[in-house]
Amino acid sequence: MSTETELAWAAGFFDGEGYVGCSQRARDNCRSISCSITQSSYTDDVPTVLARFQRIVGIGNIYKKSTAEQYKPRYAWSVQTIHDVEVVYSLLSEYLDEVKEEQFMNAIKEYIQLGSYIELGLCKKRLHKRVEGDKQCKECTTSWQLEHNETRKLERKLAKALGI
Ligand SMILES: [Zn+2]
Repeated sequence: MSTETELAWAAGFFDGEGYVGCSQRARDNCRSISCSITQSSYTDDVPTVLARFQRIVGIGNIYKKSTAEQYKPRYAWSVQTIHDVEVVYSLLSEYLDEVKEEQFMNAIKEYIQLGSYIELGLCKKRLHKRVEGDKQCKECTTSWQLEHNETRKLERKLAKALGI
């Protein structure tokens, strides 16, 4: 277990550098929620503050973000499920600044309000009513096929024009 001092430090670090938010992917309307902290590294190794934060909260992954060569490498710690976001929130909430605490609550609220597509009786893309027993949404599959056919048609036309 992390000490109160460590948790207070982690909350202060998250107040300053952390991000928490909910979003909906444009491609398929899938909802997502995440917490993250991004830091530049001066030695090319994982920044010690990120490793310390990860150890204190006990969850999350640290990965290297791709950066252009002229910049310092950047690393990010993140969690990407509602369960993990809740764990981080409940560990740090006591010490978080009001602004960050509100961001946590708003993200969680937004995530819940978006609802799961299953609960809402919608297809995965949240565009059509889900038909019980259908593995795939017929309307989405049809529109994908039409799109695919259009692409194939265009490819054939271009290939012909290019003589390949
Ligand atoms: Zn659909």
